[in-house]
Amino acid sequence: MAATPYRLSGKRVFVAGHRGMVGSAIMRRLSGEDCELLTAGREEVDLRRQEQVEDWLATSRPNLVFMAAATVGGIFANDTRPADFLYDNLAIETNIIHAAHKAGVEKLVFLGSSCIYPRDADQPMTEAALLTGPLEPTNQWYAVAKIAGIKLCQAYRRQYGVDFISVMPTNLYGPHDNFDLNASHVVPALMRKAHEAKLKGDSTLVVWGSGLPRREFMHVDDLADACVHLAAVYSGEEYVNVGVGRDLSIRELAELICEVVGFRGMLVFDASRPDGTRRKLLDVSRLTGLGWRARIGLEEGLAATYRWYLESAPRLAGTVSE
Ligand code: GDP
Repeated sequence: MAATPYRLSGKRVFVAGHRGMVGSAIMRRLSGEDCELLTAGREEVDLRRQEQVEDWLATSRPNLVFMAAATVGGIFANDTRPADFLYDNLAIETNIIHAAHKAGVEKLVFLGSSCIYPRDADQPMTEAALLTGPLEPTNQWYAVAKIAGIKLCQAYRRQYGVDFISVMPTNLYGPHDNFDLNASHVVPALMRKAHEAKLKGDSTLVVWGSGLPRREFMHVDDLADACVHLAAVYSGEEYVNVGVGRDLSIRELAELICEVVGFRGMLVFDASRPDGTRRKLLDVSRLTGLGWRARIGLEEGLAATYRWYLESAPRLAGTVSE
């Protein structure tokens, strides 16, 4: 088991999924640290292929691994690509965790998701709510894969004494998010829709579902900071929720995004689209007990994300499917 506090100084750190929203935030956070960052592009290593992952980890020999690689998406993508969400994520997890153990990795931080909790879990959700009831059907595939990832880390800890920990982030947003309307989560979707509606001079903006579900949102730079903090100070078998401790309704979120973007039309709710889980608020007592709390407010974080989107919009426009 690696020593706690675990020091980054002089370490070789592999960020799996470094081009994604979470991985790129961890890269930014680590860029000022005295450690060597290792990355493997998709063209170099397909993380779903066991042999490629084992070869790469055996050769590159990282001390610390952040597992930010995953097939992710919003409510529509999860519901319509169940095989991808289950297979890709299970394969990525089993390959990296097993190969990390074989390659002698000192510490590994696995990232899950708040959708692991039962659909009707008491709010806010403590870590103890895991596996106490049925999952939300729209994201059960992703949830099952992420639960398997937690269990893999726990199993390898118990059997081999390795220091593999898990963190469960709430709904995230920020730069490098996916703005494809069929695959994205709600923040980038509404930001893009509001931006395009403003440009076209539309009078309405369509919001999926009833607007009543409640969600908690964290800027990905806060998550990256929490991951680095936990890598240093935490070494337990139990996983740790990472959230901001506050939520709001999708209607309130839509209004806030319209304000940030400067769209002044009306919201129209499309009841033919699913609401998903009624509420998903994490209890963050364990995290605060470990000495960390979120710093980026929602309005400030959304404004920063919108500025990033404006800078990246011409490039993103080439990759959208409408
Ligand atoms: P979830 O947290 O797993 O349900 O994932 P999402 O971020 O995709 O959706 C969160 C909530 O926002 C759900 O109730 C959606 O129905 C709602 N929502 C409203 N408008 C949109 C939209 O344009 N795209 C997405 N993805 N969700 C939306």
